[in-house]
Amino acid sequence: MSDSSAIQLLAIARAMSEQGLNRGTAGNASARLPGDAMLITPSGLPWDRCEPGDMVRVGPDDQWDSPLKPSSEWRIHRDIYRARPDAGAIVHAHSPYATALACHRRPIPPFHYMIARFGGPDVRCAEYRTFGTQALSDTVLVALEERSACLMANHGMIAIGRDLDHALGLAVEFETLCQHYLLACQLGTPPTLEAREMDDVIRRFATYGQMPEQDDAS
Ligand code: 13P
Ligand code: ZN
Repeated sequence: MSDSSAIQLLAIARAMSEQGLNRGTAGNASARLPGDAMLITPSGLPWDRCEPGDMVRVGPDDQWDSPLKPSSEWRIHRDIYRARPDAGAIVHAHSPYATALACHRRPIPPFHYMIARFGGPDVRCAEYRTFGTQALSDTVLVALEERSACLMANHGMIAIGRDLDHALGLAVEFETLCQHYLLACQLGTPPTLEAREMDDVIRRFATYGQMPEQDDAS
């Protein structure tokens, strides 16, 4: 697989490392393909040593026609595409600030209005399950309901977007928000916004930016 979608997927995976979201072989990324298929990063390979042709196509029958295995988290990616028509791309990272919070199994409350960027008044933390299992996929799907990001207990975070650029952008915003939350917690428990204040922000995000019909908070 070395077409433009593979080139773009590898570029986004490398950008995750360059932007400090992942190091080594942690994390993975994928993009939806036509015909209920997806293109996903290979398992356990540093992206600076990958070629576009190393990206793995997983078909609707859960099979891959590649010498390389897909990411061990391919079930999470597959299940999100099945459950979420709004998802065109997914990034998973062990980014430092999100992972620090995930290790405390803490959901993020509405301490900052930008929480609404991820679809609701909080960002949940999925229950701990072993990496690479169907059980982990099941718990991540629950935490992502009506959200575009979640923490994964004792593991990391995941963000979904309409395309790869959008998913990466959301992951960077989410990591920044996690950094803000950790900093704010240094001074004690920060006050949170009220439900009506968050509703107001969620409404406002529906028309935020230059492409209001696309720039939603889903
Ligand atoms: P993969 O290299 O198999 O994608 O695993 C990395 C990871 O983050 C597992 O959760
Ligand atoms: Zn992981």
